[in-house]
Amino acid sequence: MRWTSKIAAAALAALLPLCAIAALPASAQTATVEKKAPVTILISIDGFRPDYLDRGVTPNLSALAAKGISASMRPSFPSKTFPNHWTIVTGLRPDRNGIVANKMEDAARPKEVFTMASDDPFWWSAADPIWVDAEKAGIRTATMFWPGSNVAVGGTREQDWPYTITGGTRPSDWAQFNQVISDTQRVNGVLDWLRRSAGIRPKFITTYFDLVDTIGHTYGPGDQRTTDAVAEVDGKIGELIAGLAALDQPANLVIVADHGMAQTSSERVALLTDYVAKEDFRLVEGGSYASLYPAEGKEAAVEKALLGKHPHFECWRKSEIPARFHYGSNPRIPAILCLAEPGWEVTDRAPRRASVGGGHGYDHESPEMAALFIASGPAFRPAKLPPFDNVDVYPLLRDLLGLPAATDKDGSDAVFRGVLIRR
Ligand SMILES: [Zn+2]
Repeated sequence: MRWTSKIAAAALAALLPLCAIAALPASAQTATVEKKAPVTILISIDGFRPDYLDRGVTPNLSALAAKGISASMRPSFPSKTFPNHWTIVTGLRPDRNGIVANKMEDAARPKEVFTMASDDPFWWSAADPIWVDAEKAGIRTATMFWPGSNVAVGGTREQDWPYTITGGTRPSDWAQFNQVISDTQRVNGVLDWLRRSAGIRPKFITTYFDLVDTIGHTYGPGDQRTTDAVAEVDGKIGELIAGLAALDQPANLVIVADHGMAQTSSERVALLTDYVAKEDFRLVEGGSYASLYPAEGKEAAVEKALLGKHPHFECWRKSEIPARFHYGSNPRIPAILCLAEPGWEVTDRAPRRASVGGGHGYDHESPEMAALFIASGPAFRPAKLPPFDNVDVYPLLRDLLGLPAATDKDGSDAVFRGVLIRR
């Protein structure tokens, strides 16, 4: 009971004679305000670099960081959106969680290409996300967007369009991503779930803001309009905090980004076609990195031309990508990977017009790719943590939900042990 309610109750008791209190129905005498357990809310602010907190426009996020824990978090390679969102909720790096890129192919589905719109469980079922673990343990979950949260993980697509999916597990409540649904609608959707009666109220929720990434891509990380987007999303975090307070709903907020953002320019593009003929390879992805297959019979020539260091990019056979990238064993990764230095792009065609903007997908250890991490709520002691890998978020989420530690994952909760308040 909040102190205002206590005063109101005392004033009411003083006004009423004892007999009047005795005459109240039993339900009124025993009615108590529900003491709510903390809900865990995982929030992604796509493309939010930790140094955006230094721009003086984030009162809400900065206050959460000051009274909770914060760190500069290392994404997993490739520092792209879908691989890293799936890493954060599965505790497995892209090489093991199956989402190795935003665009990918699989020999088992030769006529299909995975894109960020793909929700066929075939692509997603190498690892269970935290909401599936929770649902299987009887913990109700709800997702107001997160890559993969609309997928029936473990299910089977029975036919081509219109799809029929059988089996699999989704959150109890989920929403199909649509970028035009405003950030305020997203916040209010989360709050509306928490307004429910206890039996159907989620204990774990995700939400997702894409604005900072979208503006960062368009104008670059240093642009004032990116700073304005940072301020705007900070305001939405403020709306969420105010809404939680109005509901008397304690919450452990875990706020992450999937990757950072580097300044790019049409003046910094390296062309693979300066080294190999266009018809001698097939590009799967180009940009911050290029992934490709040599044409049949051209393998040796393409490798001779590309493998090794070049001005502004470096290429490896997938089996020879340096170990620190933890990338290359998944069959969905193309034969050759060429990685550009941050701020450069490597692709197969020259830019059509002059432009500047922002990009990511680079070496996950480069400072520009660092990602925001803030956690705040009754489970946390205030602390500034050293940088850690984003595979460590999943074990933390298990701790917050009271799930036993998982085995055979890529991360651990060791970095959080000194700052978690166990109840
Ligand atoms: Zn992203």
